Amino acid sequence: MAGGYISNETIDAILNTTDIVATVGEYTKLERRGPNDWWGCCPFHGEKTASFHVDGDKKFYHCFGCHKGGNVVSFIMEMEKLSYVDTLEMLAKKSGIQIKYQDGYKPDSNRTKFDEAEKYIELYERTASMFHYFLMETEPGKKALEYVTKRGLTKETIQKFKLGYAPADRKWLFHFLRSKNFSAEFLAKSGLFSQKYPEYSFFSDRLMFPIFNRKDQVVAFGGRVLPPASEDQRKYLNSGDMLQFKKRETLFGFNFAKKSIRENKKIIFCEGNMDVIAYHQCGLDFAVATLGTAMTEEHVNMIRGFADTVLLSFDSDSAGQKATVKAILLCRKAGLQVKVIVLSGGKDPAEIMLKFGAEVLKKNVDDARLDSAFLLSKLAKDYPVETADGKTKAALEFFPYIDSLQSDIQKESCLEQLVQAFNLNPEAVRRDFNNREQARERVGSSQSTVKQPVREVKLNSELRVLLAVIADLSQFAKVRNEISVNDFDDPAAKSIFIALEECFRADDLTFVSVLNHCNDKELQQLITKVIEAKEFSKNENQIVQDGIRLIKRKKLEKQREKLMNRIRQLKPATVQEQQLMQELLAEKMNIDRKLNSTM
Ligand SMILES: [Zn+2]
Repeated sequence: MAGGYISNETIDAILNTTDIVATVGEYTKLERRGPNDWWGCCPFHGEKTASFHVDGDKKFYHCFGCHKGGNVVSFIMEMEKLSYVDTLEMLAKKSGIQIKYQDGYKPDSNRTKFDEAEKYIELYERTASMFHYFLMETEPGKKALEYVTKRGLTKETIQKFKLGYAPADRKWLFHFLRSKNFSAEFLAKSGLFSQKYPEYSFFSDRLMFPIFNRKDQVVAFGGRVLPPASEDQRKYLNSGDMLQFKKRETLFGFNFAKKSIRENKKIIFCEGNMDVIAYHQCGLDFAVATLGTAMTEEHVNMIRGFADTVLLSFDSDSAGQKATVKAILLCRKAGLQVKVIVLSGGKDPAEIMLKFGAEVLKKNVDDARLDSAFLLSKLAKDYPVETADGKTKAALEFFPYIDSLQSDIQKESCLEQLVQAFNLNPEAVRRDFNNREQARERVGSSQSTVKQPVREVKLNSELRVLLAVIADLSQFAKVRNEISVNDFDDPAAKSIFIALEECFRADDLTFVSVLNHCNDKELQQLITKVIEAKEFSKNENQIVQDGIRLIKRKKLEKQREKLMNRIRQLKPATVQEQQLMQELLAEKMNIDRKLNSTM
C-alpha cells in the first residue's frame, strides 16, 4: 500500500515508534504468554476465548478465528474505519512525529481538498469556542444557559459537549471572523453564513451544538431555537454538507461514545442532540443521534464492528415510530441485534432525567423490548387483529422483518411468535410467508412501501443453500439432481445456480471459476464475504438438505396454489368439465401428499 504523499521514512518512523501492544490494548485486554507474545479476545469478531495474537517483536497481529491480521496501521484503519492516510496522520500526531512528504511531491487535488477541509475545521473550531464563551460568560448568552440548566444539564456536560450560544446580532460573527483575518471569500463558502446575505450568520439567537468528527474536531453545527419560539422558526437547524462534513456519515456524539460503544458492545440511537446529552450525563455514554435524517446504511456501517446490539430511542409520535421500524430492518439486515427503548415517565430522556434521575432512565434502557415484541404490539394497535382481514394484513407487514433476520432459526422462531401473537394457523402463515409477494398482491393493500428494494442482494434461504454448496462444491452434483434453476425465485440465487451449472458442465467446478462466472460485483462480494467468514464450514450438509426441502416445498405450494385457483374458477357443467375437475382434485391430493412428506 502506498502512503499517498507521505514519505516512506515517515511511515517507518510511525511503525517503529508506535507500540502495537499498547495500541491494541486500548481496544481489547491482552495477556502476556511469552516474552513479547500477547493474547486476547479478538476485537473484530465476538468471541469468549482468546484467539487474537499480537507479536510485540515482529509488530503484527493475527486472529486465528476470523483470520484478520496486519500491522498497527491496518489495525487502526479497521478499528476506526479510517483511510490509510488518515490513520498515518493520526498515529504520527499521537507519537509526535513530524510528517515528511515524498520528494518532488506536489499537492494533488485531493491534498488541496484535504487542506481546504482542514482550514474549515479550524474555522469551525474557532467559532465553536466563541459560541461556547458566549454561552458561559456573557449577558446575551444567559437565557440559553438558563434553558440548558433548567433542562438539567450540569456544567461538566455543557463543557464536554462544548455547547454554545449564537448571538442574535446576525452580523456579529462575520465581523469577528474578518477581524481574525479570514477572508470574505473564504467565509462565503464556509456554510456559516446566509447564501443571499454573506454577512448574515446562518445561525442566530440559538443554542448551539457543535458536531464533532471521530477525531474530536468540530466540523458542523446544530442549532436549537430558544423558547419562546415564534411559529415561523424551525426548531432545529443543521449545517449543510460540506467538504469536512457529510450528514449521512456523521452521528452526533459518536466521538464521545465510541470507546463506550466498543466496551459495552451496544449503542443507543436517538432522534435529538438533547437526548444524546441526557443519556451521556446519566452514565449511558454510548448514545448517538442522526442529524435530522433517518438512519442510513452509512450509519449502520459506522457502528458495525463496534456494537452487537442497537437500542433505538426514537420519539413515540408516528414519525418516530415509522423511523423505528425502518431502523429495525436496516440494523437487522446488517446482522445486529435490535431492542426498542419505550420511555416511561417523560416524553424524552432529558425530561425523565430531570424528573426522576439517572436510575430511572437506566431502568428504561434495561427494560428495552426486543424488536420483534415491539413490532407485534405495534401491529396489534395498527390493525383490527380480531378479524381475519386484520390478521392477514398484520402478518404481511411483519414479513419484511422476518426477511431481514440473518439466521433460519431466528426466522422460524419469529414466525412462531407471529402465529402465537395473533392466534393464526401455522400452516397458512408459513404458506403466506413463502409466497409473500403474491399474498401481498392478493390483499391488494397499500404496503408497497415496505417492499424490499430489488437491487440489493440479501441473504435469503435460497441464497443460503447455494452459498453452502459453494462452501462444499462436491454437494452440487446432488443438488442439481433435485432442483433446477426455475425452482429459484431470487434473481441472485438464479445467477449463482447458473454459474454453478456452467462450471459443472465445463468440468471446472472450483471456487474461483464459480466466482468468475457470477459477473455481478455485489454477488461476488457477498460470496467471498460469506466464504471467508466460514459461515457454512461446519454444517453445510444440513443447510443444503434443509434448503432443498424448503425449495421443493415452495415449488409444490406454488403448484398447489395455481391448481386451487383453477379449481375455484371451474364450474363444471359438461361431462368433460366434470372429468377435468376430477383430474384436478386428484392432482391436488397428490401434491398434498407430497407436501406432507416433505414436512
Ligand atoms: Zn477475529
